[in-house]
Amino acid sequence: MTGDRHRGQAVSGQLRRRPPPWRRSLAVGLAFALAAAGTGASELVNLHARDRTGRLLAVALGSGPAPSPGMAGTVRILRQTCDFRTGASPRNGWDLPLRADLRRSRGLQFHFRCADTTPVSYFALYLQSGNGWYRFEFAPRGNGRWETIILDKRDSQVEGTPAGWGRIECLRVSAWRRSGGKTAFDCAAFTARPATGAILVVRGLGNAGLPAAEIKAAVRHAADIDRLLADHGIGATLVDEPDVDGAMLAGAPAVILPYNPAATNTLAATLASYLERGGHITGFYTLPERLQAATGIRKTAYRRAADIPGGLAAIRPAGDILPGAPARVEQRSWNLNVFAPEPSARVAATWLNDAGQDTGCPAVLVSRRAAWMSHVLLNTDDDQGGRLLLAMLATGVPTVWRDAAGHRLAGLGRALRLGSVADAIRLIGAQAPPGSPAAAALVQAQATQDAATRALRAGAFAEALTLADACDDRLLDAYCRVQRPLAGEFRAVWCHRGQGIDGWTWERSISQLRGCGFNTVLPFVASGSTAAYRSTVLQPLPGVGAENDPLRECVTACRRQGVRCHAWISCLRLGDNPPPDTLQRLRQAGRLQVAFDGTPLPEWLCPAHPANRQQVLKVVREIARRYAVAGIHLDYIRFPNGEGCFCPTCHAAFEERIGRKVGTWPADVRNDARLRQPWQEFRADLITSLVRAVRAELVAAPRRTQLSAAVFADSASARRTVGQDWPAWAADELVDFVCPMDYTADDAAFRTMVRTQLETAARPRIPLYPGIGMSKERLDAAGVIRQVNAARQAGARGFVLFEYDREEAVSILPRLATGLTAPTQ
Ligand SMILES: [Zn+2]
Repeated sequence: MTGDRHRGQAVSGQLRRRPPPWRRSLAVGLAFALAAAGTGASELVNLHARDRTGRLLAVALGSGPAPSPGMAGTVRILRQTCDFRTGASPRNGWDLPLRADLRRSRGLQFHFRCADTTPVSYFALYLQSGNGWYRFEFAPRGNGRWETIILDKRDSQVEGTPAGWGRIECLRVSAWRRSGGKTAFDCAAFTARPATGAILVVRGLGNAGLPAAEIKAAVRHAADIDRLLADHGIGATLVDEPDVDGAMLAGAPAVILPYNPAATNTLAATLASYLERGGHITGFYTLPERLQAATGIRKTAYRRAADIPGGLAAIRPAGDILPGAPARVEQRSWNLNVFAPEPSARVAATWLNDAGQDTGCPAVLVSRRAAWMSHVLLNTDDDQGGRLLLAMLATGVPTVWRDAAGHRLAGLGRALRLGSVADAIRLIGAQAPPGSPAAAALVQAQATQDAATRALRAGAFAEALTLADACDDRLLDAYCRVQRPLAGEFRAVWCHRGQGIDGWTWERSISQLRGCGFNTVLPFVASGSTAAYRSTVLQPLPGVGAENDPLRECVTACRRQGVRCHAWISCLRLGDNPPPDTLQRLRQAGRLQVAFDGTPLPEWLCPAHPANRQQVLKVVREIARRYAVAGIHLDYIRFPNGEGCFCPTCHAAFEERIGRKVGTWPADVRNDARLRQPWQEFRADLITSLVRAVRAELVAAPRRTQLSAAVFADSASARRTVGQDWPAWAADELVDFVCPMDYTADDAAFRTMVRTQLETAARPRIPLYPGIGMSKERLDAAGVIRQVNAARQAGARGFVLFEYDREEAVSILPRLATGLTAPTQ
């Protein structure tokens, strides 16, 4: 079973590992003085350009409002009003013709201002090229101040068949509707960002016949490679296949083909002549026929991992053909191309199976002109995968290691955000008693930094990188050890798997948690359709029965180890993959929420439908009576967004509430200003009354059972947007505590959220335990520590981490336990 909030970390179906902390760049939040932007020649396009008849070239999308030119100081701006009140158009924005060649750019940037982003689900910038578009989504802060939006080519998705970055013909900026409302946004000073280097990363796009899944894969693998290079300080330029010509290649020390499933013969011929002139290609998986002679690598077969005994589990370099490569790279590939070395090439790495045995399948081949991997780089083992990429690239561009090591050492210590290594040692040292493990770790940090610097000077670049990792690890260790626990703190984790951590028993999961100083677990036990316990109300998940009751196991383990268990229930959301027959039954019974256009939402139960309300109460009742849980934790106790539900039940209930018919349903709910207030109250009351009913159910339970809820971070808008008036629940003590989902990697934003929540929303009598986006925001131990400390400083007496999974259990929580959550006696 999966909770839904963890989805953010899945990238195209693959779970990404947390990158090493030094690789994470700081959130970009540039304050910007418009006057400084100037109106210089670097602007890609004149936003006020007019045609011969004097008409503005920037035109409205569809029948939406037209953009209007204006000035901010000496800077030309374009203002776009968005009127989503009528629901006629899902988006508002403008188109402006421009001719631009962005091949040698890293992307573009512009200045943006929007006072209220509430009615907007997302903003997008499009660049038209040939028969397609490049699409970037962006999320401004929307605080009414100018901000710089920076877009990287690697983050672009494609629609249709773009003709390359060299042939940009139109710029479009648009806002997509979230809810009925009105707002406006301003844009200014579009400029191209210069590329960082001459190595070309060629994205496998350009062939009109490419299926959607292949396009997605080509985009993803190119983005992964481009990001890995940037993270390692290797300058590169990302282009698409149609951009590649002799002139582009002439200055390229190397070309990378991350995944190019449909490279044309023309492209292959161009690349072949590039190789003949002394070029170098680092390639993955597909190897165009025409390149086989030029690279000295030949494809002989295709194999599925399922047909190889023990499958494919890792890559192991052999001999010294790939200097600096890691000893082993975990990568569970599902297939590969079998490559054979022609006389000039050699096998540089082979595949290992599950048992660690050599499969004999070549993983990387290296020739004078190329390094080729027999599958794509899956990037599931970030650090090691990145090193392997560097090693392959270095066979053609030897300076790669020097650049990567120099970049790495220059950023040493930065992951802690305490300044340089010396700063970190001084700041942490001030809190580390002499002779303590923390003090010892700082001594080691200093020693490894010195050794890394010596290695860099001696030209032992790969060794310098390894030492740099060790230095950062020692600093992090010392930083964690000087943290202090707070007595009596509520320390909890959400665990989205009803069965506990994959491959572990609940006993082990809880034991690990307890050992790391945590006292509460919130296991996900039920969605709106299925249960991870022996339910008589919901359909138990496959495998759940008399012999296997995960909730019972969890409760038993918790009781034995003195950990509190709060059963986490997704109230109104059906969860991933609801059983088709259940979905069908719910639809027929009119129990699903209905969108403005009358279509049922396949994932959401209507909170007005009596059967849905009864279901929530029955689930709570059976859990509270049959399992010794400390509490019930409500999630998805809200509407999905600012609209709905427009089902017949809600229609009738709303009319009864206001005592008259709605003239045109549901349009008037959007358009009639007099209905806005009553509609919002109606929605919020539906949710609040359900919480109240759950509370009453628990009061009647034989054992004292607490009630809590996961709620939206923005208390001011939660009621208006999703009908979740949690400040009122807190004021009325309908719940015993609330956990706002304060998921952000931005520490300042986190601090502001918690302060605001404690000051304005939960001032009353119940505790507020901020939810920290540990895995969702890919925080490392130091990131979690910073946010817990911020929560404590704001006055919170506890926190909940989202979420507890194997990686967090083994790599983050033990670090917290050395200080921040050290078990207190
Ligand atoms: Zn409804």
